[in-house]
Amino acid sequence: MIVVMKTNATREQIDHMLRRVREMGLTPHMIEGTERKVIACVGDERFKAPEQLAVGAGVDKVIPILARYKIASREVKPEPTIIPLGLGSLGGPRIGIIAGPCTVESRSMLLEAAHAVKEAGAIALRGGAFKPRTDPYSFQGLGEEGLKYLAEAREATGLAVVTEVMAVEQVPLVAEYADVLQIGARNMQNYNLLAAVGKVDKPVLLKRGLSADFDEFLLAAEYILSQGNSRVILCERGIRTFEQFTRFTFPVAVLPALKQATHLPVIADPSHATGRSDLVEAVARAAIAAGADGLIVEVHPDPEKALVDGAESLNFDGFKKLVASCRKVAEAVGRTL
Ligand code: PEP
Ligand code: MN
Repeated sequence: MIVVMKTNATREQIDHMLRRVREMGLTPHMIEGTERKVIACVGDERFKAPEQLAVGAGVDKVIPILARYKIASREVKPEPTIIPLGLGSLGGPRIGIIAGPCTVESRSMLLEAAHAVKEAGAIALRGGAFKPRTDPYSFQGLGEEGLKYLAEAREATGLAVVTEVMAVEQVPLVAEYADVLQIGARNMQNYNLLAAVGKVDKPVLLKRGLSADFDEFLLAAEYILSQGNSRVILCERGIRTFEQFTRFTFPVAVLPALKQATHLPVIADPSHATGRSDLVEAVARAAIAAGADGLIVEVHPDPEKALVDGAESLNFDGFKKLVASCRKVAEAVGRTL
């Protein structure tokens, strides 16, 4: 349930309610809105009596929550969460684009890609140093060496670094170099990993699992939020269906549905969703039109020679074209890019 405090509630009244919530065996999370403070009570509330909290001094109302995600919910925090990132932000009126190679292949290709995507208008650089590959014999990434190149590219360009962390024991190392910790689709329900990144003071980019439904996706975000990390970015990257025409199926309706359900920034990954560079730009436009706050796009200096995901990677010209056409769509829906 959610305890909504009156606009003029005092600090003592708020502290008292936080204590009361704890006494009831629930964990309180304070959410500071622009006008009032709200306490989200996390835990099994089925046998708790909301009236006991409703009578507290300074309490406006107590709202039982049906959705199992609470901290992520818009009911708790109606205004959007805006996450500053590199040369822009995610979640505000301005669209933010994260771009770069699927995988850090070498220092020179990464720096070349970083300069090119910055020039074209990206705010952050993507690139995997630890790669979750379906086939154990394919290239697994450069590891820490790749992280060092990403940090060097950030120094050179001002772009934020977004990179995947695959295991709990990698979290401290990746957090040392990255600005955003990416949780890959295959790890969306790795609850130990979600809990670990929930304790780090860096934003987390959470990709939707290949077969995860809407609620499971939001509950995975809730796991991270419940550990104290309030900066989670949701990424729709396509789901597994019977359709083999594209690599995955991009469910465009999920974008406005997520924006209704949660205050967190929502971005789209048209690269993995389609698996085809000739479809990436059109799907990116659709995502912006449907309300996405940003994109994560694979860009490679020479896609034909990419070690990973070349078929879905744009070259620099293709990415420039994508940004220009998404800018028109952003303006048409009242946003900027
Ligand atoms: C990626 O973005 O590098 C990636 C592996 O994507 P996903 O986890 O969505 O498959
Ligand atoms: Mn990829």
